[in-house]
Amino acid sequence: MLEPAQRILIVEDENKIANVLLDYLAQSGYETHHLTRGDEVEPWLAEHPVDLVLLDLMLPGKSGLDVCRALRSGQAGRPAPAIVMVTARVEEIDRLLGLELGADDYICKPFSPREVVARVKAVLRRGTHAAAGAPGGLQLDEAAWRATLDGRDLGLTAVEFQLLKVLSARPGRIFSREQLMDAMYRDERIVSDRTVDSHIKKLRRKMDEAAPGRDLIHSVYGLGYKYEP
Ligand code: CA
Repeated sequence: MLEPAQRILIVEDENKIANVLLDYLAQSGYETHHLTRGDEVEPWLAEHPVDLVLLDLMLPGKSGLDVCRALRSGQAGRPAPAIVMVTARVEEIDRLLGLELGADDYICKPFSPREVVARVKAVLRRGTHAAAGAPGGLQLDEAAWRATLDGRDLGLTAVEFQLLKVLSARPGRIFSREQLMDAMYRDERIVSDRTVDSHIKKLRRKMDEAAPGRDLIHSVYGLGYKYEP
């Protein structure tokens, strides 16, 4: 039996960009829809549930930011779609991450349609895993500051434990180095980006020793890190 196609809503006011995406996504087997205005999204979704929304940031009617917030604050009674935010400025992504909108991924224009398809696939795949509730064999004992992976004690330092706690609490979410630093050092910002990187490196090594090849913490080029079971 064929599975029903996953549905994707593209919200983009530039028809040229939208048409390319519609083509590529349709070729990849998705059922696609297109809206050009931000204020059309919620009413439309109320009638047509989708699996993922590809949401441009700058839109007429209502900004992608406001649409994302509204979708995340919940539509009663139905599963929320995954959201991939699209922005024309790479600097904007840091600000968006800081706003904690709860988008599942961020893409910067100009993008290759292939890349968009790959990211959409990854987000949708993650969605089914998240629904299955598999934490990847990771257990955190907060009272003891002790983490085990597949039953093996990771032997983490306090900083490594804190990093893992923050990352694993929101699987798939990208954290900037600054957000991770905030989580580690509440009061004094005495660490540099490089410090975060070196703690993450040690953390990854310990996790890889406990569960080789599982590769749970990923670096996202130019953005930061994420935990992905
Ligand atoms: Ca736009």
